[in-house]
Amino acid sequence: MLAVLVLLIVFIISQGTGMEVLADQRVDEVSISLEELQNDIDINRLRHHVYVLASQEMKGRDVGSNEAERAISYIENKFKSYGLQPWFGEDYKQPITTGAGANVVALLPGFDPKLRHELVLVTAHHDHLGIREGLIYPGADDNISSVALMLETARILAKHSRVVKRSILFISFDAEEKPEGGTDKMGSGFFVNQLSNDNRQRIVLMIGMDLMAGEVIPALPGALFIMGAEKSLHLSRLIQSRTPIDGLNPVPLGLAMIEAVPYCPWCQHSVSDYDSFRQADIPFVFLSTGRSQYYHTPADTPSSLHYKKIERNAAYLLGLTLGAANDLEWINDYDHHAQDQSTDIASVASVLDAVLKQPPEGIRWDTFKSLHKAQDTVTEFSEKTDPLSWFEYRRLQSISLQMQCAVAKPSWRICPWF
Ligand SMILES: [Zn+2]
Repeated sequence: MLAVLVLLIVFIISQGTGMEVLADQRVDEVSISLEELQNDIDINRLRHHVYVLASQEMKGRDVGSNEAERAISYIENKFKSYGLQPWFGEDYKQPITTGAGANVVALLPGFDPKLRHELVLVTAHHDHLGIREGLIYPGADDNISSVALMLETARILAKHSRVVKRSILFISFDAEEKPEGGTDKMGSGFFVNQLSNDNRQRIVLMIGMDLMAGEVIPALPGALFIMGAEKSLHLSRLIQSRTPIDGLNPVPLGLAMIEAVPYCPWCQHSVSDYDSFRQADIPFVFLSTGRSQYYHTPADTPSSLHYKKIERNAAYLLGLTLGAANDLEWINDYDHHAQDQSTDIASVASVLDAVLKQPPEGIRWDTFKSLHKAQDTVTEFSEKTDPLSWFEYRRLQSISLQMQCAVAKPSWRICPWF
């Protein structure tokens, strides 16, 4: 009898302790700080995603290939193991019926009864160029770096889902690299076209990423370009209010600085999935570390990436995603034509300064000379009190293009002529 009594007491005490632990965890969950979440970022997991998905065996993940199918399954299994919900009924996968390949989409339901109906999208494309002339194009920076970041953010936020107010969709797009941009053969275009009106109106913000592991300007270490925030005051406030991250240097840049086309002042060349959302009037922000010399070459391999930088970008993405899910006001001032000239001038000036301080290896002397001259122009612009004229703003775009050309293709003859 005594033994039974003792056992009963032990049982009651252990139950009590268990409940306390549970209660503690719940309090923790609701109040966990961003810093604690960021401490959970696992560089080994990030590295593992890159080494698996951008390995030689994946043969460049050409759209519709068996290897791309394997990449899709890998991403799907990760979503499943993090406990995220499939977005399409029972399926995470969305076959692109207008073309080839499939998007992979997972839902993390938000916890705030008032905000959970709204959606924040965190996206990256997983396809690349496949094999060309017998050579594998692994596409590690382009764009498994971003897929890895998306997966790690999904894992951490799924683990601490009670801190997330709005719902989040994690999306891996297919068919970004094919020359089908702007059509619904592109994974992101297909996704947007297939959205119901109701779902389209639920989207607060799309966060798009492409090329997230380059250190392309050595004299500007940690540079992460943040594009598109100039289109809304709410959005630029979200960007400005990010907590600084050691070793990370966010550089805000207008889309016009990367989308301009040489010799065609009225043309615009979109460079990633965000364009599908822009066409549907959905606010977005686009993150990238820029094109390196390995861009679209067989040398874009896992060993060429900067993992410390990916880790810092992961910390940034985590903060940005949480900021968009919890603090961002509904964007009601979105303007596709909006510019922020003073930010553009300041950012181009700092990048140009860094490029000239430590010029890319093999840069042509005429490119260097032309950039040097451009520096005077940018200084002149920065001293102006009036807004830039149309011609001056176009000149700033051309200077930005010249810089990007010099960084990615230093030996190209045409860079000074952009
Ligand atoms: Zn890409």
